[in-house]
Amino acid sequence: MRFELPKLRYPYDALEPHIDKQTMEIHHTRHHQTYVNNLNNAISSLNLPDNITIEQILKEVSRYDKAIRNNGGGHYNHTLFWEIMGPAPQGPMGGEPTGELARVITSTFGSFQQFKELFTKEALGIFGSGWAWLILQNGKLKITSTPNQDNPIMDLAPERGIPILGIDVWEHAYYLKYQNRRADYVNAWWNVVNWHIVNEKYKEALKQKGKF
Ligand code: MN
Repeated sequence: MRFELPKLRYPYDALEPHIDKQTMEIHHTRHHQTYVNNLNNAISSLNLPDNITIEQILKEVSRYDKAIRNNGGGHYNHTLFWEIMGPAPQGPMGGEPTGELARVITSTFGSFQQFKELFTKEALGIFGSGWAWLILQNGKLKITSTPNQDNPIMDLAPERGIPILGIDVWEHAYYLKYQNRRADYVNAWWNVVNWHIVNEKYKEALKQKGKF
């Protein structure tokens, strides 16, 4: 069993000017690749089934070595992160969710604007390195965060659920362009969220309702 670095669906410069090309390239080819390599090293001595998924490992992560928690989390989190981003959308609906997800965000948080403010506050409130998440928990949307490379699918996470949106607030995600200005990075990041994919992830998570 070997995990692999997923290919991006867009070029490294596609998220400019919000996320710069050099950050994307280093983040993907070095940081994420390192998590993949270290994860493969950590599982190489274990007798895991060939078809085991990263989700299956993380749902029982407390059984495994800390290296699997850190690097397996890193692999899962970054894979999701690349998926839920894309070139800033054009047109009147650009930058906002549509369809069922838009309706549920409004009914859960009051408005999309209110949701953005709460999620941004969560991301800015993380001390040190970690991730802010929008998860589906018992069929309901919830904002939460995790330290380091933990995530809400891990059995040891205080708030469990299926992530449909997440932002990396490790300094390596923004330091080259934004230095210590995490708020500027988070505000810019909203421009490159691919709401079509987030909506698909929401629908997929609804089908798994009951597992969390
Ligand atoms: Mn990262």
